[in-house]
Amino acid sequence: MKYTMAIIGFGGMGSWHAENVLSHIDSITVKGVYDIQKSAQDKALSHGLYVYGSLEELLEDREIDLVTIATPNDSHKDYAIALLKAGKNVICEKPVTMNVSQLEEIMETAEKSGKIFSIHQNRRWDKDFVIIKTLLDQGELGRPYFIESRVQGSRRAMYGWRGHKTNGGGMVLDWGVHLLDQLLNLTDSPVVSVDAHLFNLYSDEVDDNIKIFLRFENRVSALCEMSTNCLVNHPRWHVSCTDGTAVIEDWSCKGKIVKLKADSQMSWSEDIVYTEAGPTRTMAPRPEYTTNILELPEVQTDWSDYYKNIVNVMEGKAELIVKPQQALRVMKVIEKVFESEETGAGVSCHI
Ligand code: NAD
Repeated sequence: MKYTMAIIGFGGMGSWHAENVLSHIDSITVKGVYDIQKSAQDKALSHGLYVYGSLEELLEDREIDLVTIATPNDSHKDYAIALLKAGKNVICEKPVTMNVSQLEEIMETAEKSGKIFSIHQNRRWDKDFVIIKTLLDQGELGRPYFIESRVQGSRRAMYGWRGHKTNGGGMVLDWGVHLLDQLLNLTDSPVVSVDAHLFNLYSDEVDDNIKIFLRFENRVSALCEMSTNCLVNHPRWHVSCTDGTAVIEDWSCKGKIVKLKADSQMSWSEDIVYTEAGPTRTMAPRPEYTTNILELPEVQTDWSDYYKNIVNVMEGKAELIVKPQQALRVMKVIEKVFESEETGAGVSCHI
């Protein structure tokens, strides 16, 4: 079956959706765009797309089965509700809303409408994330206890609406929502505390550098960090497990696993070792024969699988991969992030 899609908001991400769907998803055709800006309307026309004169015209267009919302974050809720009420299936860009109550309102409307509502958490298909998920699912490195996930830039820039609080700007809602969604998908346990350190070094209004510590009930802890002012990067991922450590350096997914050898002799002498760190037993280097250096697992990922899942759900052949309930959990953690920053202390929870 062939489905027809429209896009609301034809900026950076709206045009990405159009290009990706048209080039990868045979069963969806993109008909048109609704955007309030003339330049975006002109861009849509130059791509051969129809431009709707009003939201009502789009809502009334019976050809449209599916609409993707790719506007600034403060407008997601009203569009999602109007579209669901008009009987459209809806994909909403991340962050799904500005807060928990807005999302609950959408979920209630989606439930009543019987239509699909999903959130474009496309970074679940990032190669680096899928490598880490595969590694942890395999369980070869023992019990994970500290997961560090970082995205670091240095341009100090929060472009356009991203610099404004009223539009839902700032790093927590921009990149934080991706990294938190990934961490919640890696760890099958409730979040029991959130401790956030948010900085606004260059923006007058919104957080532009953030560090968030999560503690899960199963004793896994995680650090998620986004910077716009990092001039010497840490690795993208550093995962500490009882029997090994895994590192992914950057988006190219260079990295390695260092795993303890199960059969090597692990008894150390009591003698102090003289190292460049000074005399020490604890920090003396481990003999190389006690570890193996392994390649990261090979994985196949494809961002277009997000839309393939949506098609399968429309045809009743699959469940949504990105469910509103999961986005709700992320939004609840995000509310604790802001609460922690406001109080200047860690916040207990059970999310
Ligand atoms: P953008 O500024 O490039 O584009 C936004 C577009 O929306 C513009 O064309 C603007 O004219 C239009 N617009 C603004 N207000 C509108 C309104 N009320 N009604 C209709 N159109 C309106 O922004 P962007 O980078 O494309 O971000 C859009 C959304 O996509 C945001 O929610 C953002 O968080 C998300 N995003 C997601 C990813 C991802 O990887 N999933 C990446 C970038 C952005």
